[in-house]
Amino acid sequence: MITDYEVDRHTELRKTVRKFVQNEIVPYVEEWEETGFPSEIFRKMGELGLFGVFYPEEYGGSDMDYFAAMAVTEEIVAAGSGGLAMAFNVHALMATNPILKYGTDEQLKNYLVPAIAGEKIAALGITEPSAGSDVAGLKTIAEKVDGGWILNGSKVFITNGQRADFLILIARTNIEAGINGYSIFLVDSDNEGYSVGKKLHKVGMRSSDTTEIFLENVFVPSTALLGKEGEGFKQLMWQLNGERLIQATACVAGAQRCLDLAVQYAKERQQFNKPISKKQVLRHYLADMQTEVGAARALLYQTAAAYNKGEILPKEISMTKLFASQVYFRTADQSMQIHGGYGYMDEYPISREWRDARLMRIGGGTDEIQKEIIAKYMEI
Ligand SMILES: Cc1cc2nc3c(=O)[nH]c(=O)nc-3n(C[C@H](O)[C@H](O)[C@H](O)COP(=O)(O)OP(=O)(O)OC[C@H]3O[C@@H](n4cnc5c(N)ncnc54)[C@H](O)[C@@H]3O)c2cc1C
Repeated sequence: MITDYEVDRHTELRKTVRKFVQNEIVPYVEEWEETGFPSEIFRKMGELGLFGVFYPEEYGGSDMDYFAAMAVTEEIVAAGSGGLAMAFNVHALMATNPILKYGTDEQLKNYLVPAIAGEKIAALGITEPSAGSDVAGLKTIAEKVDGGWILNGSKVFITNGQRADFLILIARTNIEAGINGYSIFLVDSDNEGYSVGKKLHKVGMRSSDTTEIFLENVFVPSTALLGKEGEGFKQLMWQLNGERLIQATACVAGAQRCLDLAVQYAKERQQFNKPISKKQVLRHYLADMQTEVGAARALLYQTAAAYNKGEILPKEISMTKLFASQVYFRTADQSMQIHGGYGYMDEYPISREWRDARLMRIGGGTDEIQKEIIAKYMEI
């Protein structure tokens, strides 16, 4: 067992989160697959300080290191609701960290502080119908007008989209300026012209809401611009590193859960008068799973140790996201195999893990895009 990483220092924090998870999440996981989780859970998480562990105290955070944020994610993933864990991470560590990095005092006060407190829910609007992997192909336009901007366009697959109080979105502010023609905005969801599509039906992550968002002549004041005009693409590339690293954290925790479920089941299930865990072929499956999860965790903690020191390593982050999401899906699939027909039934939690795990090789940049990034940094 790896013990010398900073993550092991957060035992008290882990205990607090685990208790919350056991009382407030675990009993409702099945129900939320059908109904979606209630937004109220975000308020409770905010009260307990779960969104702010990695943020400065002056904004309501507790100023701990990055491993504290990872510890919170790992404990929430262990509850077995991939949809809630994804929604949590989008809010806590994907949509709000650009505000800390680029926000004005007013933006920090109006968006980051209430987001950390769980009073406002955030969503992140990058993907568009014609721009997925090719983010630069996005078509949402922000036109400069007196006192602000007018936004027109649409976003798709937006996590928290139905419940969000505000959306951080990227739009084109100058079509002729190439990569310098994008900017990021903070847009309130109650703005006139902002509308939300229906909740999309998904293979997994069913407790979360994923939706389309339409922007029709939405006016936002100049103060809605996050960071500098024209620097949105650069800012987004910075944001994606954090997004991928916390996603990799969720994948390693998810893979561990699939392995734990497999070990438990294999010890309990009897066939041919013995627990199936005594069959060499299954013991070897489990040993392979253990090895892969260990390797993914080692890579994750090593990359996170650099991130924690402020060193952003895009190649290593993409390697970590690629490997962790593949290990998660392979472990989920093998765990289902070990569960036999029971694993395919809804009442066995491995069926949900299997559905949820599949997204991770797509969302936050697909496997193929991670490989493109790795190859680029290998200068091949
Ligand atoms: C449940 C869910 C939640 C999501 N949440 C959010 C969210 O909150 N906010 C947000 O902005 N987005 C969100 N997304 C969008 C997600 O990030 C995109 O789906 C993802 O980036 C892939 O884009 P795409 O779906 O358009 O696929 P495409 O880009 O169309 O890709 C299709 C296939 O082509 C491959 N491909 C594309 N380009 C290349 C290339 N250059 N080289 C090799 N292969 C390539 C891809 O790898 C993939 O296999 C979410 C998606 C889902 C499904």
